[in-house]
Amino acid sequence: MSAAPRSITPSQAARDFLARRHQLFIGGRWVDPAEPGSIEVFDPASEARIATVARGGPRDIDHAVAAARTAFEGEWSRIGSHQRSRLLFRLADELEAHLDLAVELEVLDNGMPRPIAHYSIAKFGCDFLRYYGGWCTKILGETIPVQPHDVANGESLTYTRREPIGVVGAIVPWNSPLIMAVLKLAPALAAGCTVVLKPAELTPMTALLLGDIIAKVGIPAGVVNIVPGYGHDAGAALAAHDGVDKIAFTGSTEVGRKILLAAAGNLKRVTLELGGKSPFVVFPDADLTRVIPGAARGAFFLQGQNCMASTRLFVHDDVFEPVVEGIAKLAGAFRLGPGLSPESDLGPLISAEQRQRVMGYIGDGRNSGAELVCGGDAPAGKGFFVRPTVFAHTSMDMKIAREEIFGPVLCVQSFNDSDLKAVAAEANKTIYGLSGSVWTRDISVAHRMVNLIDSGQVSINCHAAVDPAIPFGGNRQSGWGREFGREGLDPYLKTKATTVMF
Ligand code: NAP
Ligand code: MG
Repeated sequence: MSAAPRSITPSQAARDFLARRHQLFIGGRWVDPAEPGSIEVFDPASEARIATVARGGPRDIDHAVAAARTAFEGEWSRIGSHQRSRLLFRLADELEAHLDLAVELEVLDNGMPRPIAHYSIAKFGCDFLRYYGGWCTKILGETIPVQPHDVANGESLTYTRREPIGVVGAIVPWNSPLIMAVLKLAPALAAGCTVVLKPAELTPMTALLLGDIIAKVGIPAGVVNIVPGYGHDAGAALAAHDGVDKIAFTGSTEVGRKILLAAAGNLKRVTLELGGKSPFVVFPDADLTRVIPGAARGAFFLQGQNCMASTRLFVHDDVFEPVVEGIAKLAGAFRLGPGLSPESDLGPLISAEQRQRVMGYIGDGRNSGAELVCGGDAPAGKGFFVRPTVFAHTSMDMKIAREEIFGPVLCVQSFNDSDLKAVAAEANKTIYGLSGSVWTRDISVAHRMVNLIDSGQVSINCHAAVDPAIPFGGNRQSGWGREFGREGLDPYLKTKATTVMF
């Protein structure tokens, strides 16, 4: 298992960025908050303060929404779709040009290992912007071949147009900060909307870098506004704001419910990407050389702080022992350390609070009668680390198996039922329905299970396959709506129907 975390010196560029004065990005300018206030930002691997950023509050949200409205009704509404597309491509190019800095800031702010930050920003930052850049010129209405009865005596043409919904409030979590911001910005801008983005208070750094990049590529002032602040304050003000037409939220199910209530005032549209507790079902004929690394990756990627994490493994009795043993061996070999170190496979959790929460669940697991196979502790010393933890012989009446932990804790449950409905019923026994996977060489079993599992995504022989073009989102209390792909544009558009009589 891991060596004690070592401190790694960030590059000069990262140190310069972190040390500068961090204001709010409103109306294309960096401005101070209406009321003085700041947020201290920490590196979760060293627990050292790395930056101080301005804290936005409700009055700043007012200013940002007004700037977004002015841009929406003004310059942005006159920019054609080709130009919007060009701007999104330019944004992707500029993000790519800042990739090293973005990666380093993300690692220092969030704690994730550098290769993961690199892959995710290149793939989901840059590729996502380009994917939606391509959509700007392909947002189509329809012609509808009917003759409405009030034009019965004439000829008519009915067509629809897809119009941007307006001002979007984007509220995002800390687990993959830059990507979460881009997942909202790209479709919103492609659709022709303007945005007020509130990053998580724990991880605002890469959103602020995005402000620099946005100003540089020539996106008009006010089209994107970035207001770091606390959820209960700036976030709540944005969700309730009458000048906002839609909230795009990613975060916990609990806060998702608050967003819905806040949005009721002006009945703004809401999309919610919420929690998960995804099943990973292994049949006895599955290729265990793929299952074992797939399960370890699926559960411990981003230290389990990942909404799609495969935290519930259902393994057939015949292969239960080798699967559990194989995963425990891999989990035990993961090296914990600061994300900037090339020797780290897993980083810290985001905060002391999150570590305490996860350790609380582990304590609960120990008392529940489940077998602790590996991990279960937090290494001493600096950094909010928790060792990857595997509990075997869990059941769906245990809290650790039912609730989203958002940490490196895997529950493994056995089954020997040949009735697929019974297996799927166990897999569906949570309030969530975000992701899931089925592992077997039998195509009939695989497709029957796909039909039976109630999740927005169910993969076969892989877990959490994500791509900008693949729709992503949750069923049940994992959320409302879909992101990614063509479907990911829909929530940013409204349809206008027109009939012309001639
Ligand atoms: P969270 O506590 O729900 O916070 C998410 C965002 O909402 C943060 O920006 C937060 O601000 C803000 N917020 C908090 N209270 C608010 C309020 N009353 N009104 C408006 N905004 C408010 O979630 P988290 O702990 O940061 O992130 C972990 C959760 O996100 C997990 O449940 C995970 O499953 C989910 N998640 C889902 C997806 C997905 O795509 N389905 C992806 C990633 C994560 P502050 O941080 O400043 O409080
Ligand atoms: Mg939070």
